[in-house]
Amino acid sequence: MSVCITLMRDALAARARGEAVQPLRTVMRIPDGAGLMATMPAWVGGPPALGVKVISVFSGNRALGQDSHQGAVLCLDPATGTLQALVEAGAVTAIRTAAVSGVATERLALPDANDLAILGAGVQAASHLAAMCAVRPIRRVRIWNRTEAGARALAAQTGARHGIEVLVADSPPAAVRGAEIICTVTAAREPIIEGAWLAAGAHVNAVGSSTPDARELDTETIRRARVFVDARESALNEAGDLLLALSEGLDRVEPIQAELGDVLIGRDPGRQSATEVTLFKSLGLGIEDVAAARYIVEEARRLGVGQEVEPVR
Ligand code: NDP
Repeated sequence: MSVCITLMRDALAARARGEAVQPLRTVMRIPDGAGLMATMPAWVGGPPALGVKVISVFSGNRALGQDSHQGAVLCLDPATGTLQALVEAGAVTAIRTAAVSGVATERLALPDANDLAILGAGVQAASHLAAMCAVRPIRRVRIWNRTEAGARALAAQTGARHGIEVLVADSPPAAVRGAEIICTVTAAREPIIEGAWLAAGAHVNAVGSSTPDARELDTETIRRARVFVDARESALNEAGDLLLALSEGLDRVEPIQAELGDVLIGRDPGRQSATEVTLFKSLGLGIEDVAAARYIVEEARRLGVGQEVEPVR
């Protein structure tokens, strides 16, 4: 996680300096409503990485004992375009998404924030718990999940691993009230957070519900917060949390203060007081995937793991 946090910091900063190419992802819904597939091409500089992630999201997979997010990152040589590697995308997505929230938390949360709320208990919930522990001295975690058994399982799994107190909350407000860092990592379609619950100085990483018609946050949360995003273009096209708040008459001309990369390179000051609420709306970027996959390929070669395949010509 700590390595990936560094990789993500570098990739987001490179993009803020203009050293990245990344069209808006294409999202294709499967006709019977079972799932969707997105393609995320990207190039990012320093050191360069080129490729495309193809990621599918099939929520019903969890009942089959499989992760909801599946796919691959196709890595191409940035100098020649030749195929370098195919990397399984589920783990990349789990780790890089949490690492980016780690970068946001490192920059935007109060320096001594140690009380964490996690809403959701899936793959991202576990990786976010690890990421938050990597950037802040977390002492207490409250997990709320739609299905309480999921929260209990995650609490049992992670409490021992991180050596901290992990509690199960019986409702979203019971998890959120008083928390200094809040991560929303669900596939909720309706708000699970109300702005009135947020403590002064709280930082929110809003990670789930990555489509224009779904959201985890109510309009009051957006109204109260200084809002940061991974990419403005993605946020203004895909973030139901922002788009639905705007459609409900959010009374702010510019809902987004800055991209996280702008904060990283010092173009934006980020948090400006100890009492304001900061919010990072994450949608996930192709540059994050190709930067993470490039590192994985280098490490696999160094450690001699993975399978080499000779191209048939
Ligand atoms: P999982 O499938 O592993 O977990 C899904 C979680 O969402 C479970 O806790 C589930 O609860 C909960 N959930 C599902 N439907 C609802 C609902 N209607 N109301 C409240 N909770 C609900 O998914 P991941 O952990 O991999 O991903 C979580 C979210 O993050 C998804 O929305 C995903 O699209 C998004 N995501 C965002 C990324 C980004 O870069 N920003 C990257 C990857 C994922 P239960 O146990 O009760 O089913």
